[in-house]
Amino acid sequence: MSRDAARGLVGVVSRDAARGLVRETGGDELLERLDHLDRVRAAARPSEEGTPDTPDAGTETDFDVVIAGGGLFSVLAPTLAARGLRVAVLERGRAGVAHREWNASGPELRPLVESGLVAEDELERLVIARYRTGTCSFHGGGSYPVDGVLDHAVDAGALLSLARARSEQRGVTFLDGHALVSQRSGPDAIALRVRTRDGDREIVARLLVDARGASSPYATADLVCPTVGGVMTGLASGSGPGEMDPEVGEILATVDPIHEGRQHVWEAFPGRPGETTVYVFYYARAEEPTSLVKLYARFFETLPTYKRGDARLVRPTFGLIPGWSRLTPAPAPPPGRVVLVGDAAARHSPLTYCGFGATLRSIVPATDLIARAAFEPGLVPPHAMQDAPVHALTGALAHMLASRAFHGDEMNGLLDASFATLHAMGQGPYAELLRDELAPEALVTFLERTARRHPAVWGQVVRGLGLTRAGRWGWSVARSMVGGRAAA
Ligand SMILES: Cc1cc2nc3c(=O)[nH]c(=O)nc-3n(C[C@H](O)[C@H](O)[C@H](O)COP(=O)(O)OP(=O)(O)OC[C@H]3O[C@@H](n4cnc5c(N)ncnc54)[C@H](O)[C@@H]3O)c2cc1C
Repeated sequence: MSRDAARGLVGVVSRDAARGLVRETGGDELLERLDHLDRVRAAARPSEEGTPDTPDAGTETDFDVVIAGGGLFSVLAPTLAARGLRVAVLERGRAGVAHREWNASGPELRPLVESGLVAEDELERLVIARYRTGTCSFHGGGSYPVDGVLDHAVDAGALLSLARARSEQRGVTFLDGHALVSQRSGPDAIALRVRTRDGDREIVARLLVDARGASSPYATADLVCPTVGGVMTGLASGSGPGEMDPEVGEILATVDPIHEGRQHVWEAFPGRPGETTVYVFYYARAEEPTSLVKLYARFFETLPTYKRGDARLVRPTFGLIPGWSRLTPAPAPPPGRVVLVGDAAARHSPLTYCGFGATLRSIVPATDLIARAAFEPGLVPPHAMQDAPVHALTGALAHMLASRAFHGDEMNGLLDASFATLHAMGQGPYAELLRDELAPEALVTFLERTARRHPAVWGQVVRGLGLTRAGRWGWSVARSMVGGRAAA
């Protein structure tokens, strides 16, 4: 298939053709990542393979902290090294190479500066686009503008390569082509078995930070958000239907009814001049089989129903983002010297899946916690993420959206009623919900008003969650309602 095949993405696209387009535009390494993610979910179990011997008390360590996974959470390497810790980053591919594009609101980016990771002028250069406003719109429903949400596009590649350069200046060791296979904790150290092209080796550290994202065997959250797409050129520019306005971020958009049990949701964010990052995703339960390659085929096939123009994929980006409903046990590592971060810990919103924003919020507290835990026995926490209180209630909504109990335009009707309600509540609560800042009591108000607008929601909650979970969730909502009224 020629490079020109990436143009004019119309008609039925087979899975092989979709893989071909990813290879042509992203290269063999990126295609390997795509196939790896599709494989790994089927096999993600803690491995006993070649588990090292338990390191004795007082064992000499190679590093204080080893971060397994050189994706977004490798930004912790330079902040830990700045505290004087001996840090290594293990990555099965190459660390510090972003395979994503990231959006956040301006204030959410501040921890990058506050943590000493980047200077003010560097942050300014990392922001490649800013938008006037954002919208959420639903098939057969309305379009609801919102300000101050995901309105800064960040050059993800530049951010991670800057973090890598800063890490290297601070003495961090990068071990590219090193995959963590298994580990064993001792009283004050952890032994790691690591696989390289030349065979296995063992590394001993005080602490393992598991930043392997969806590939971690401890990423046991009950939901998952398969997402595919990438940076595109050639989309029709303008503010009409099917056009891309370079001043507007499209945060959520549905353009069709449920297909094969899934409501597909689109996003489109302007990037560098002439470029737009476009994704399609759906909500799913973790135990269900998913295929990113299949989703790519659908992306190429149905993009023309979302955007017009002579679309050309210039950089594929994709991933599986774990999500936790808070209705099941939390993802946690085995007792010992392992700390989960990022997608593996799944403490971000299971509704918006904004793991970049959640990471930014966690950089400073996670650096503090991990730096202490490396040296104080008994202080190792299961995870080092900030969790917003509102997720305790929105988790069940996400679980419902992942259910396959809906048909036709039912999900569109529900989303439309929800966003119409949020919009009517005002820009404050609307933006706060999407930035994970909404107080649980305000979320209860939102639920009450949505139910008034869309009474079918009660039946949908029971159908989507099942009676027991719906009851448990109703109890949490009632508690927040009583708590909120008492506080008022
Ligand atoms: C397409 C897409 C777009 C997104 N856009 C946004 C956005 O605009 N805003 C937002 O807030 N969030 C966004 N997110 C979410 C965000 O990207 C993730 O939450 C974030 O990347 C999680 O960081 P992480 O470090 O936990 O995992 P990752 O960044 O996924 O990194 C995990 C790393 O671990 C490596 N690895 C896996 N197994 C091993 C092993 N055994 N040994 C060593 N290394 C291993 C992988 O190769 C990978 O590099 C997006 C996600 C996707 C998929």
